[in-house]
Amino acid sequence: MFPASFAYHRASSLADAQRLLLANPGARLLAGGHSLIPLLKLRLATPDALVDIGPVAELRGIRVVQGGLAIGAMTTHAEIAASPIVRDTCGVLARTAARIGDPAVRNRGTIGGSVAHADPAADFPTALLALGATFDVVGPGGPRTVAASDFFRGMMTTALGDGEILTSIGVPAVAGGRGAAYVKLAHPASRYAVIGAAAVIDQSEALCTGAQVVVGGLVPWPRRLPAVEAALTGKRLTADAIREAAAHAGSDVGADALGDLFASAEYRRGVVHVYVERAIAAAAGVGMGL
Ligand code: FAD
Repeated sequence: MFPASFAYHRASSLADAQRLLLANPGARLLAGGHSLIPLLKLRLATPDALVDIGPVAELRGIRVVQGGLAIGAMTTHAEIAASPIVRDTCGVLARTAARIGDPAVRNRGTIGGSVAHADPAADFPTALLALGATFDVVGPGGPRTVAASDFFRGMMTTALGDGEILTSIGVPAVAGGRGAAYVKLAHPASRYAVIGAAAVIDQSEALCTGAQVVVGGLVPWPRRLPAVEAALTGKRLTADAIREAAAHAGSDVGADALGDLFASAEYRRGVVHVYVERAIAAAAGVGMGL
C-alpha cells in the first residue's frame, strides 16, 4: 500500500523543527514511524508534509535530574530498556520498555512517539500516568509542562496543540518505601496491551500510605481506579487485602471497556481485576500464594 504524496523535511535541530512546523501548517512529526507510517499507508492520515525529528540530538538521551529522570522524546524503547540509569532510578519503566513489541519496534519506536500517539493499547501511557510523569512541550505559545493526569485527553488524543513538540518526559524516581510494577495481557502477535495495569504503592511499616493504580488497553485512554486506590490506602497489604481492593477494578472501568475481534469488552472487564491484583502485589512485594 502506498501513502498519499507528501513533502519530506528533515529537521537538523529543535529550532529547525519548530520553524518547519510553522512553515508547513498541518505537517506531522515523524519520530520512529512505527505508528505514523502504517496510518499513512492506510490513508488514515494524509498530511501534506512530514517533519522528521530523527536527527535532532537535543531530543535524545536520559539524564538524572532532581527527583528522577528526564528522558528525551526521541529516546527509543530499546535505549530505555537497556539503560542502567533507568533500571536504577525507575526500574519499572525499563521493564515496561523491554516488553514493547519486538526488537525492530523497540529499536525504532520512541517514548515521545508512543505517548503523543496515545494508542489505547500502548504500554508507556499507563505506566507514566501511575508514576505521575510530566511532559515538557515547546510550541508557538512557548514552553510548558503538562502533568500526565492532564496529558491524555481521549482516544488517541492528548494535550498537544497544533505545532507543539514533545521534548522530554519527567519521570519521578521510585525509591524509599515506594514500589512500582506494570503487567499486561499481551496480544500474542503485536504484544500491544489487551489489558495493561500499573501500580505505584507507598508503604510505611507495612501499611499502604498511597496508591496510584492505572489501567490501559481496555479503556480509550489510561485511567486511575479510584475505588481500588481507596480500598488500599491505610490498609495492611496482605494478599487478601490486595485481592479485595482489586475486585473493584471492573466497576471502576464500568461501561467504558473497549472490545474488538481479539477480546470483547465483557471479557476484558471481567478479568481486569486479575491484572490489577498482580500489578499491586508486585509493586508491594507481596506474594499472592498463586
Ligand atoms: P511515530 O510513528 O513516528 O509517531 C506517532 C505519532 O506521534 C505521530 O502522530 C507523530 O506526529 C507524533 N509524534 C512523534 N513524536 C512526537 C513528538 N516528539 N512530539 C509531538 N508529536 C510526536 N507499542 C506499545 O506500547 N506496546 C507494544 O507492545 C507495541 N507493539 C507494537 C508492534 C508493532 C508490530 C508495531 C508496528 C508497533 C507496536 N507498538 C507498540 C507501537 C510502537 O511502540 C510505536 O513505536 C509507538 O507507538 C510510536 O512511536 P514512534 O516513535 O514510532 O512514533
